[in-house]
Amino acid sequence: MAATIIDGKALAAKKKAQVAEQAAKLKSRPGLAVILVGDDPASRVYVTSKRRDCEECGFYSEEFALPAETGQKALLELVDTLNERPEIDGILCQLPLPKGYDYDEQEVLLHIAPSKDVDAFHPTNVGKIMIGDYDFLPCTPAGVMEMLKEYNIDPAGKHCVVVGRSNIVGKPQAMLLLHKHGTVTICHSRTPDLASITRQADILVAAVGRVNLITADMVKPGAVVIDVAMNRNAAGKLCGDVDFAPVAEIASYITPVPGGVGPMTRAMLMENTLTAARLHGKE
Ligand code: NAP
Repeated sequence: MAATIIDGKALAAKKKAQVAEQAAKLKSRPGLAVILVGDDPASRVYVTSKRRDCEECGFYSEEFALPAETGQKALLELVDTLNERPEIDGILCQLPLPKGYDYDEQEVLLHIAPSKDVDAFHPTNVGKIMIGDYDFLPCTPAGVMEMLKEYNIDPAGKHCVVVGRSNIVGKPQAMLLLHKHGTVTICHSRTPDLASITRQADILVAAVGRVNLITADMVKPGAVVIDVAMNRNAAGKLCGDVDFAPVAEIASYITPVPGGVGPMTRAMLMENTLTAARLHGKE
């Protein structure tokens, strides 16, 4: 195997230790509130891991497990209350909200005070990212940028190809690479001849959600390959978009799934909550 494996797990542990050290110096603890509506098992797992991360970093955390039938009005009222509570610095509403009810996810995100929007999904924070003057970055793309930095991979002057254009991953990822002076191409489901574009990438970020979408013939030898996706293959095993073993033969750096971008995403949420605590005068 030629590529260096980017160790997201180790880097996340280092990041969380730094956050814990910084948090211990504040006047009071950073606090994170996590809202879970309904009983989606995957969301439940995420909420539990966020609680553990908070414990690790010395944060206060509170969980709100609401029944699926709670309704939009009561959910917005809870967000309003959390917006007002000084011990809460970050508010996170686990998405997707349950189907078959009258939920409006966008309205919920708009309700979260921008200074407590540690996911950076509020249009105010999205706009700030566009102009490069931000408090928070969305956790997944921010985690990717940290990984590049840690391994001394500078996007400046490189052709960066991002596959996927979602609001939470693809678009902000492209913007962050652009801020770092990469030349960025964004691909999506209607991009013809995807391979001809991915083959030009010096840094290739895959954020689609399709097992083995990126095969070795789609990767330039020596490219840096970042796999954001979290899929289950036919055997039920967690995997990304990249056909890992053959691509690792030709790439210079590659992130594994699991153990790559996922742990970094969680660590960046802790960093954003620390930033929010500072914004709220806890320094
Ligand atoms: P999403 O909202 O479903 O977006 C997927 C994107 O992929 C869309 O822009 C879509 O294009 C594009 N796409 C679909 N099929 C394609 C194809 N054949 N060729 C090229 N592009 C294609 O997903 P997401 O929320 O961005 O998440 C992407 C993946 O990352 C998922 O596997 C998710 O589980 C994972 N994820 C991981 C983390 C983490 O912490 N590691 C965090 C968030 C997400 P259109 O816009 O044209 O439909």
